[in-house]
Amino acid sequence: MKIQLDKIGGLYTFIPTSDHEIKVLSDLRKILKAGDRVAYAGRETDDVIDGRTYMALHFYAGAIKTTKTIIYQKATVTWPDYVGGVQLILRGSEVEDKNLVCRIRDACYFGSAGIIFHSTMEIDNVTALRFTLMHCKHCGGNMTETLECEWGVCDVCANKCEHKFTRGFMHSEGIEIINDVIYCETCGRVRPK
Ligand SMILES: [Zn+2]
Ligand SMILES: [Zn+2]
Repeated sequence: MKIQLDKIGGLYTFIPTSDHEIKVLSDLRKILKAGDRVAYAGRETDDVIDGRTYMALHFYAGAIKTTKTIIYQKATVTWPDYVGGVQLILRGSEVEDKNLVCRIRDACYFGSAGIIFHSTMEIDNVTALRFTLMHCKHCGGNMTETLECEWGVCDVCANKCEHKFTRGFMHSEGIEIINDVIYCETCGRVRPK
């Protein structure tokens, strides 16, 4: 998938690059209307390029969420499962697309838990689908960034926030390092130094 990010509009555009992806996006288009959520359902390993491991993301639209029980190393594990609907496996074509896949994963994992269908767009004779990740809880605007989705507050509203700073711990974007910082407990933005 070719992936484009429009940060100002708060939209990701998914442009299919194979017959299979064209079919999946066409199936999605049949069941989605603007504002419908497509659930994030985990990731798998994609390519390893220059020592960096990229990921592909699983999404389900119109599916019923259930659980399945599997035996894993003698333990019985209950796992989320999806029945019916359309499965989208989001795999970036080029390195820049794969980097955007990682950003989408972080925003889904730390905040949005899925993507929201926005519109279709014709690009080079194929039908691309556009998604936002989450709507701001104050203004309803589209959001694409992890910090926005984690706190449910878009950058525009964060700029207008009457910050209430507190000291605490936050993870850095996309990685597991926890920092001791002073941040606003309303919008999650860190106090400028
Ligand atoms: Zn907002
Ligand atoms: Zn604030």
